[in-house]
Amino acid sequence: MQIPFSAGATLTQGFGENPQNYQQFGLNGHEGLDFIPKDADKKVYAVESGIVQEDFDDPVQGKSYGNNVVIFVPTNRRLWTYAHLAENFVKKGDRVLRGQPIGIMGSTGNTSGAHLHLGLRQTDASGNPLNINNGFKGFVDPAPAVKLLTGLEQAVLDRANAAKPWMPVNNTAALWKFAQANGLQDQQTDEIPFTHNGAQYIAQVFNKGIVYVKVGDWGNIRYIPK
Ligand SMILES: [Zn+2]
Repeated sequence: MQIPFSAGATLTQGFGENPQNYQQFGLNGHEGLDFIPKDADKKVYAVESGIVQEDFDDPVQGKSYGNNVVIFVPTNRRLWTYAHLAENFVKKGDRVLRGQPIGIMGSTGNTSGAHLHLGLRQTDASGNPLNINNGFKGFVDPAPAVKLLTGLEQAVLDRANAAKPWMPVNNTAALWKFAQANGLQDQQTDEIPFTHNGAQYIAQVFNKGIVYVKVGDWGNIRYIPK
């Protein structure tokens, strides 16, 4: 399973591109990433777990984004927009898991052809977008987050899933302390060593997220919300 399309996605327009086309919308350029699937599966799969903050099933109501879904990730305060959908499968307030199908790619709203427009904003703790006067109405380039989610983080998840069943083991190590500081609750596995692109990492699964760190880079512990 890949995200946001099951067989992978082709980028057709990057963030900030074509400023001349976006001036009319008060934008300095394209305010997200446009993707099309690499095969015939047009279902859109959530790139990150979260809670549906908005869901438009009426292309008129959804305005330029047509049928669209906005998903808030409380743990890292990210707000993802999935726009121009043919239809969506979720409702406001739904808890959505990473990799869950949330809709079907379409061409509703202001678009010249079928594609997924993926937008990303950072928010406050309540899910209100930050920096809305940044020239992109608060949207930021999703590419670094998408690269992490589909690359290293997917490798972490694959390795963590291979280590199931997840069980609590250790409550004194650095990863555990990091997890407690970030509200990730109880551990579900021991520390799991693995390699990615020739580098050594350690992952550990907790109730609310999977913590990981590159061996030696102890000041740079990260986690994936579950
Ligand atoms: Zn777009």
